[in-house]
This record gives sequence, C-alpha cells and structure tokens, in this order.
Amino acid sequence: MGSFALREPLVLGHEVSGEVEQVGDSVVRVRVGQRVAVNPSLPCIACDFCLQGMGNHCRTMRFFGSAAFMPNVQGVFK
Ligand SMILES: [Zn+2]
Repeated sequence: MGSFALREPLVLGHEVSGEVEQVGDSVVRVRVGQRVAVNPSLPCIACDFCLQGMGNHCRTMRFFGSAAFMPNVQGVFK
C-alpha cells in the first residue's frame, strides 16, 4: 500500500458514513436519525501544527484503516 507494507493484520475501512441510532445524554451535536460521516484522520495533537490548531497539517497524521505507522490504526469494518 503506497510506500509501506503490511506487517500485521489490518481491519480495513476509513471512509465511513451511517445513520445515528442512539445518542448519550450529553450529546448535542448529532441527533437520532441524522446521517453522518466520520472524519478518518487522527492528528497527534502534539506536533507544532496541531498545537497551532492546524491538525490537518499534522506531521504524524494517522488514519483509520491505515498501516502507515506501527502499530496500525485499525479500520472500521469488522
Ligand atoms: Zn500533529
């Protein structure tokens, strides 16, 4: 996959959408029945870009279902 190879089993899937079935008492941003999509990026929140509020430029960005870094970040399909 690109310039890296799988070194351990990986659950695929990073482009996810669905419909909300339940929400917790403190959830205010989504409601039951709402269609949603998941942002698959996982910025480190520690690099210089992340600390400046620019997580989209994260130097060690990870993604659900990606083997770019070890340990792998598992995807959403099971
Ligand atoms: Zn970062």
